[in-house]
Amino acid sequence: MPALDLDVVWNSGASGVPEPPVQVHRARADTVVLRQGIATHFEAPFLYLLLGSRRALLLDTGAVADPAAFPVRETVDGLLAEWLTEHPHPGYGLVVAHTHAHGDHVAGDAQFHDRPSTVVVGHDVAAVHAFFGIEPSADGRNGSGRLDLGGRDLAVLPIPGHHPTSIAVHDPATRTVLTGDTLYPGRLYVDDFPAFSRSLARLQRLVRDAGVEHLLGAHVEMSDVAGVDHPRGSTRHDGEAPLPMTPAQLDAVVAAAASTGGVPGRHVFDDVAIWID
Ligand SMILES: [Zn+2]
Repeated sequence: MPALDLDVVWNSGASGVPEPPVQVHRARADTVVLRQGIATHFEAPFLYLLLGSRRALLLDTGAVADPAAFPVRETVDGLLAEWLTEHPHPGYGLVVAHTHAHGDHVAGDAQFHDRPSTVVVGHDVAAVHAFFGIEPSADGRNGSGRLDLGGRDLAVLPIPGHHPTSIAVHDPATRTVLTGDTLYPGRLYVDDFPAFSRSLARLQRLVRDAGVEHLLGAHVEMSDVAGVDHPRGSTRHDGEAPLPMTPAQLDAVVAAAASTGGVPGRHVFDDVAIWID
């Protein structure tokens, strides 16, 4: 399989070109990045569809429930149908899971509840950990779980701090970690600073030990100017930072987070702003 193509200019309302409610980018035949149109919701979250031989994972379902406004189910069904013409598999399954349970990541779930061969993972910590088989380790913090898509084994790590249900999904096949709202080029809202710091350190260890190259989060809010974001609620983004973050950027965010001392307020850095409750 070729490397991931993550060189994308997303339509974020600034180009004058009509923006689809769901943008689709095939980073690789088995790896699709979707983005909810900013016109349908200012959060404009990214969703990920990872395809294995037996089943696929849809990570997050977007910020809008109404299929007429945000046809995420129809889009995913089309992508799965295309995949299955090339890779037929009877009873091919779909797992719908979430980077965390905030509304802008789970609102589209309702569109999948009646879908055949589909599991929609619940929204509380117990449901998430039970589904992925996340068991606490001896120190009570560092357990991990997994999800086998068929020829594609994902590791699932709890990374609380933004939200108690936050997980990271590590895909060794693409040297990628999906980080949700814990790490992305934008406003990192921290609910529990000690947990957030431990989670960033855990991501750093994973990246180092597993040779991860790409860290893909769930939003872009930074502009293409260092330290300048598009304010919350913006309905267009004129110039955006790239979605993928590098291991070096993670290291910088770890240092940045440490430098805040956990002091409540807004701390602005080149690649992220850290907002501590
Ligand atoms: Zn979010």
